[in-house]
Amino acid sequence: MIKECDIIIIGAGPTGLFTAVNINGKSILILEKKPTAGKKLLMSGSGRCNITQSGSISDFFNHYGDGKRFLIPALKEFTNNNLIEYLRIHGLRTIDIKGKIFPESEDAYDVLDLLLKECKKKKVSINYNENIQKIEVIDKCFSILTDKDSYRCNQLVISTGGKSYPTTGSTGDGYHFAKALGHTIEKAKPALAPVYIKNYTFSELSGISLENRKIAIVRNNQTIRTNQGDIGFTHWGFSGPGILDLSRYIEANDTLKINLINQNPETFREHINQTAINDNKITIKKYLKTFAIPESLIKLILADLNVEPSSHISGISKVQRNEIIRLFCEYPFIVQRTGDFNIAMATKGGVSLKEVSSKTMESKLVKNLYFAGEVLDIDGDTGGYNLQAAFSTGYLVAKNIS
Ligand SMILES: Cc1cc2nc3c(=O)[nH]c(=O)nc-3n(C[C@H](O)[C@H](O)[C@H](O)COP(=O)(O)OP(=O)(O)OC[C@H]3O[C@@H](n4cnc5c(N)ncnc54)[C@H](O)[C@@H]3O)c2cc1C
Repeated sequence: MIKECDIIIIGAGPTGLFTAVNINGKSILILEKKPTAGKKLLMSGSGRCNITQSGSISDFFNHYGDGKRFLIPALKEFTNNNLIEYLRIHGLRTIDIKGKIFPESEDAYDVLDLLLKECKKKKVSINYNENIQKIEVIDKCFSILTDKDSYRCNQLVISTGGKSYPTTGSTGDGYHFAKALGHTIEKAKPALAPVYIKNYTFSELSGISLENRKIAIVRNNQTIRTNQGDIGFTHWGFSGPGILDLSRYIEANDTLKINLINQNPETFREHINQTAINDNKITIKKYLKTFAIPESLIKLILADLNVEPSSHISGISKVQRNEIIRLFCEYPFIVQRTGDFNIAMATKGGVSLKEVSSKTMESKLVKNLYFAGEVLDIDGDTGGYNLQAAFSTGYLVAKNIS
């Protein structure tokens, strides 16, 4: 027998759950393929759930790569402050740690618990372990066939997430559903991923971070993107917010030029030359340490250049000095690859934004079909931007459906 309801939401992640609890006066069923809801939400912020950022919502607009324009109506409709207030009204207080907002308990479980309790209050049904096999539009209704049952609904929301961390259930199924319904899918690529470097000689620095460094992606001798943020050395390359946020644009064989001391090369050249004249006792190691970089990094680079750390600057040849300036101001690292979907925290690509209304999240191709959350071609920077996008787009769907 076909089971009928007003609305079916596919995916019980933060987007699907939040959409459901904001719809009024309709019968809602969530179909989830995993045995539990919100697996990725529970992992977010290393289990602490960095839910959003503080500050003005307009500060968010530049944190979604190329998808920023599309998101503006959703972010304005349901802002970071609306989200914080929603959580507070429903009994969950938040804290602000350096601009990042977390539940006061710093436990992602509390956010999931709140959403599930609200689903229960609003009589939203959730069917777990449902594997969808086919979605069709028949007589202006959606017909959904799973391995267990057949369903029919008037409105359908696809909130199946992206492709990252596939063990959480986000395996890109939504892309197949959308494609079968006529939508274009922008190629999925790992985002918020660490970067592996070719012939990397900095493994011993693993665990060390540099704050707020300038990073440029250079491809075919052209700088294609820049960013400034914290970077972390790993065993095989780099991680940290500055790198993760750029990773959506990074390809194999790109060069990452990292300004290790955040100095303009010309200003640095003048400074080092002047210091050589004014202070004929200062060693190169002591001098470089004034730029807030660890001694171990200085020693590695100087060893590469055959410069003794105890050499006086005045005694270092012009050629070696030029190399010091080049490497400390724009050390070129050749990219082997970025981390794959198993370790990327978000997905660039997904349902093309051109075929979805940014004001309602409804498909421009199929009436009563909606998309929300990471299944769309949207990926935010680290720091709570992805969850804010999940909640804002989910809210917009709910508002339009209600
Ligand atoms: C390790 C990690 C840490 C993160 N930390 C943060 C953070 O601190 N702050 C932040 O803003 N963002 C963070 N993110 C990103 C954030 O978690 C995601 O952007 C967000 O979960 C997306 O929500 P969603 O509901 O759209 O998709 P998902 O959370 O991926 O949920 C999709 C749901 O759909 C289900 N589903 C998929 N296919 C089907 C199908 N065929 N049938 C039925 N159900 C299906 C899945 O099982 C899943 O339950 C993190 C991500 C990771 C991986």
